Amino acid sequence: MNEPIRSCVICRKRFPKAKLLRFVKDKDGSVHTDVLNRRDGRGAYICSNEGCMDKANKKHGLDKVLSLLGLAMKAGHVASGQTATEAAIKSMNACLVIISTDASDNTRKHFTDMCNYRNIPIVSYSTGEELGHAIGKDIRSNLAVTDEGLSGAILKALEPNK
Ligand SMILES: [Zn+2]
Repeated sequence: MNEPIRSCVICRKRFPKAKLLRFVKDKDGSVHTDVLNRRDGRGAYICSNEGCMDKANKKHGLDKVLSLLGLAMKAGHVASGQTATEAAIKSMNACLVIISTDASDNTRKHFTDMCNYRNIPIVSYSTGEELGHAIGKDIRSNLAVTDEGLSGAILKALEPNK
């Protein structure tokens, strides 16, 4: 397999493209994460190393949790949307479930009950629109991260003032 290789713009180490998160600067100067590698503009790749992620997020004022979600998505470790999220929870593949802050009470209760029953961490974070954008999709009020390492990194990023 000939996987494209790119360098992390911070540490300069080389990785398969799929393991890196792409940041793109738009014409107006704003910076976005680009999960689908579809945005035009000047792009740079960041590796999942905590120091590199932190530096890039700080520099561009981006949200660390959402960046980590983008990375998890690229690596194929995110299930999103009611059916896929439920399936990930029921199969115990979900290591972390995120509900948007604007999800309906029903959705929140539904997933909280499911997760509590199985001891899967569940957090409320960001709007459905932001969650969706972070993984290159439309509005998502719920999603599951299915990788333990990335889930841990996200939970750590959610701890206040650390
Ligand atoms: Zn790096």
